[in-house]
Amino acid sequence: MDPNSTIAKEAARRRTFAIISHPDAGKTTLTEKLLLFAGAIQIAGSVKARKASRHAASDWMEIEKQRGISVASSVMQMEYRDHVINLLDTPGHQDFSEDTYRVLTAVDAALMVIDATKGVEPQTLRLLEVCRARNTPIITFINKLDREVREPLDLLDEIERLLKIATVPFTWPVGMGKQFGGVIDMRANRMRVFTAGEDRAAADDEVIDGADDARMTERFGGDWKTARSEIELLEGASHVFDREEFLTGTQSPVFFGSAINNFGVREVLDALVELAPSPQPKPASERVVEPTESKFTGVVFKIQANMDPAHRDRVAFVRVCSGRFERGMRLVLSRTGKDVKTASAVSFLSQRRDIVEEAFPGDIVGLPNRGVLHLGDTLTESGEALQFTGLPFFAPEIFVNVDVADPIRTKQLHTGLQQLGEEGAIQVFRPYQGGSLLLGAVGQLQIEVVAHRLEHEYNARARMTPSAYKLARWVSAEQPADLLAFLEGNAHRVAHDVVNAPTVLYAHQSELRAAAEIWPRVQFHALREHS
Ligand code: GDP
Repeated sequence: MDPNSTIAKEAARRRTFAIISHPDAGKTTLTEKLLLFAGAIQIAGSVKARKASRHAASDWMEIEKQRGISVASSVMQMEYRDHVINLLDTPGHQDFSEDTYRVLTAVDAALMVIDATKGVEPQTLRLLEVCRARNTPIITFINKLDREVREPLDLLDEIERLLKIATVPFTWPVGMGKQFGGVIDMRANRMRVFTAGEDRAAADDEVIDGADDARMTERFGGDWKTARSEIELLEGASHVFDREEFLTGTQSPVFFGSAINNFGVREVLDALVELAPSPQPKPASERVVEPTESKFTGVVFKIQANMDPAHRDRVAFVRVCSGRFERGMRLVLSRTGKDVKTASAVSFLSQRRDIVEEAFPGDIVGLPNRGVLHLGDTLTESGEALQFTGLPFFAPEIFVNVDVADPIRTKQLHTGLQQLGEEGAIQVFRPYQGGSLLLGAVGQLQIEVVAHRLEHEYNARARMTPSAYKLARWVSAEQPADLLAFLEGNAHRVAHDVVNAPTVLYAHQSELRAAAEIWPRVQFHALREHS
């Protein structure tokens, strides 16, 4: 492919990333500031509104009211230094973490936000594991230096130990809390002086070049000396930045700052432009797809119910993997070989959900549809048989039996469950020997949301009763005969999911261990990748 082609040029200036963090580390605040710095002010308000809805996460009615906003702020696009930056939002509530994992399959880099008063927290750890499984490059932002925080060296040590990723500080803090003086740019021997305030732009910051030790000690006291000696220590002991290691997710550049005070935010944007990769090649079952290929390909990584629940239309979020997307173009859905219309494709440039005219690799396009598109679907311009791989489904941990409350509405209930299953809102299992359908969830809130949506979107009330099952494993075997023998021998506890993948269900971990011993030629998977 000609490197000067429009597609190659547009792909090269794209950066697509997500923020990973534990709740309250400052993701919302940082998102707003990134948007402000990149001039996309209009959306910033909606980030706050979105957060307001998140606090009411247990109340689905409230979430529903906010759906318009949440669709619009799911993907935020900004221009910075002649680059197009796509920021994919990840749901904050832990019960929706499956959704988050899938969003992480659609990014080329992740920004990890650490609360410097707390260090590495559980959700960060889990999300980082997902990134690591895919070798996603990680940029680290250590936030809240305007508070009394943990020692920076301790924080780096903890990140290295718990997250098993080498850290390379690009900036280093001078003091903290009330004494927070600013950050030293480790490469340029320059200090950016901290001033508090939400409305400042970084251009107003005082920057001291070629810091003179005596003068700086006079101004920043012991904090300056401490910072200097820490930097000396780091220069001797820490890793040297290696772009290859960063790109394979084994080394992370680290920045210190305070999101609420707009401090350190520009450095993060610069790092995205200068260090983070442009759209990467994507593996499919048949071959690897290069972003610069002339024909469009894309993959559905998220499906979200649309604003008007009565119409049941849903927005499929498609990551452009190659080529150019043009509104109105004819695309082929690989799974069915059928055409998909794109005339009403939406982009996420603003709260209004602008109609998208064209999009390039790394961009996200929203395709409103009525259940035609499923999670993990591949769309192509050429009609080539192609299936992108790698979209994860996680073995559920909460199970309920579901029956119709009103027999006349059986069909609606089954349609609803099939569609919500395809959307990834819940996992639906059909027991091999018949009987009630089983719903499997990773978090309890998912079950509540599904019950509510069945009633309001499908007009079908479900009777849900607790199930004895506590864990599920997808099963496979190298020899089909081995799998068949297992499935027949365990028919009473085997079920099939929405894509007909065989699953075995257990009430106790010990049963799974016993089964694994009895059936050594069967593999038990806690994670299923879309294929
Ligand atoms: P999220 O849950 O990760 O989205 O976190 P938020 O952005 O909502 O931030 C959580 C809390 O931390 C809020 O009260 C913020 O005002 C506060 N916060 C965010 N950034 C900073 C910061 O740099 N310094 C201080 N002191 N507080 C911050």
